[in-house]
Amino acid sequence: MQRRVRRADPAWPSAASWESLKGAVDGNLIEPRALFADCATNPNGAACMEALKNIRNPYYIGDQPAGTEVSGWLDAWTPAPSAYAVVARTADHIVAAVNFAREKNLRLVVKGGGHSYLGTSNAADSLLIWTRAMNKVTLHDAFVGHGCAGRTAPVPAVTAEAGAMWMDLYQAVTSEAGRYVQGGGCTTVGIAGLVQSGGFGSFSKGFGTAASGLLEAEVVTADGNVRIANACTNPDLFWALKGGGGGSWGVITKLTLRTYRLPEFFGAAWGKIKAGSDAAFRRLIAHFIDFYTDKLFNPHWGEQVSFGPDKTLHISMVCQGLDAPQARQVWQPFFDWVAASPQDLAVVDKLGAGAVQARHWWDVEGNDSMIRDTRAGASKMHGWWKGDQDQVGAFLHGYDSLWLPASLLQQNQRERFANALFASSRHKGVALHFNKGIAGAPVQAIAATRDTATNPALLEAFALVIIADGERPAYPDLPRPPMDLTAARHDAHEIDLAAAQLRTIVPDAGSYVSESNYFNASWQQAYWGTNYGKLRAVKAKYDPNGLFFVHHGVGSEDWSADGFTRLA
Ligand SMILES: Cc1cc2nc3c(=O)[nH]c(=O)nc-3n(C[C@H](O)[C@H](O)[C@H](O)COP(=O)(O)OP(=O)(O)OC[C@H]3O[C@@H](n4cnc5c(N)ncnc54)[C@H](O)[C@@H]3O)c2cc1C
Repeated sequence: MQRRVRRADPAWPSAASWESLKGAVDGNLIEPRALFADCATNPNGAACMEALKNIRNPYYIGDQPAGTEVSGWLDAWTPAPSAYAVVARTADHIVAAVNFAREKNLRLVVKGGGHSYLGTSNAADSLLIWTRAMNKVTLHDAFVGHGCAGRTAPVPAVTAEAGAMWMDLYQAVTSEAGRYVQGGGCTTVGIAGLVQSGGFGSFSKGFGTAASGLLEAEVVTADGNVRIANACTNPDLFWALKGGGGGSWGVITKLTLRTYRLPEFFGAAWGKIKAGSDAAFRRLIAHFIDFYTDKLFNPHWGEQVSFGPDKTLHISMVCQGLDAPQARQVWQPFFDWVAASPQDLAVVDKLGAGAVQARHWWDVEGNDSMIRDTRAGASKMHGWWKGDQDQVGAFLHGYDSLWLPASLLQQNQRERFANALFASSRHKGVALHFNKGIAGAPVQAIAATRDTATNPALLEAFALVIIADGERPAYPDLPRPPMDLTAARHDAHEIDLAAAQLRTIVPDAGSYVSESNYFNASWQQAYWGTNYGKLRAVKAKYDPNGLFFVHHGVGSEDWSADGFTRLA
């Protein structure tokens, strides 16, 4: 039985071996410490204070070798620093690290933005390849993939090194060059992790998944070769990278994405409504479904609404390609309908809609919706959405997601759907992310997304439902009151019950690999559906010995849960 070595094992590499790796990576080898290690040894010391001061800043967390955006998941995983980390600055450093891990039989971990909910970018006793320092971004007017000359037409594109975050691309592509690239909603997510997830941003209903815009990736595979993957060269690997899950195929060193004409306007609709009775809340749910189907189920509208246990509907939607009067005109009939029932419905947060010049969407300066990274030396272009603040360092009690087929919007299905939403929302807040379902998108976006590894259920889905909750940061050694485990487990159970209500109407629902339940027992089917067999074959071809292991990644069923022991 194959077993990877742990630090305590006699076969663990000697100090001299680590020194040789250090030489091969130009000195860029470190021993990472846990995010709050200093608080364990000296709670009043400057280092602990510095970490505490920055705990709500996602850029700070991402800048730490052992930083994870999520501080853990109840009964699932706890952040653990790697034994060593290669702070990669070039593809050669990554090659050296991959070869070292393979030859020394080490557990290998790859981290970019550190935003894995499932904890797949950290592991104890591992060697980490950390790409944070590789973040160069280059724009192209006419990109043709390697080996594609004469086979694919040149297109405008952007190439970014793997450690870049979406904010880096939005600044370069939209704020500076006036074009659009399809990436993620959260500005601090890493590009390589998100593209391999499939990846959704606020405007994916207009442009498809991030993976569908991938033109080329450079990848270091398990054999230590630097390979190009695109439609013409290693097309099977290219397809697997487009949604087959991060950390399973090799280490991406850089990737190139198509860019699009920027719409003139990006906009939003907002507000919160509270129903006075169960009957009124049911009516509100049913009316919203009708309104969504008639007015919002199209390439313009994405992001979310959520239905809460307190009988509230929270609207937090965005749009592309509509100016402010057009956005308001779309919503006015719904707002009028709400206003016409003051005895049943109270507006608890003002309702409204509007739009701004798309080119200024990601401006940090003067943007009321953004928080700037104000640390000394931080880029002035780095900010995060206020709406994402609660996620920074959050500890998860539970999380589940399901793709909802557009057939639920048919007239004869809507009542069933509304009843299930009501029943589900009795347990927990139920958020419908419309930008994370591709039904209703333009035909080109659907065609490009079809040519990816993500579960084809995505193509039929008008939304991804996310049901999740947690609490304030709970990193190991972070000074805080003890967690109420009974309450946390009860919360996790309510999330399970809420998801179960929706599974009664979508029994075999697909689920988004990167925003999903750690404990999903049918993950192969849920994440990849009919694509799973082909993904297994690509995995066997490029990584036959399973050097790249992640929790519920393709081929991970051959390994123990910790990725150290080969079972099959
Ligand atoms: C707060 C928050 C907000 C999010 N918002 C969105 C969103 O708006 N849209 C969306 O679609 N998803 C979103 N996600 C999910 C996110 O897209 C995935 O978790 C994604 O994988 C994160 O990538 P990362 O590089 O930041 O994370 P990491 O934890 O660094 O990496 C994630 C996975 O990708 C692998 N990986 C990273 N870099 C490489 C590389 N260079 N080569 C090979 N493998 C690599 C890692 O090994 C790991 O398995 C969000 C997650 C969080 C925590």
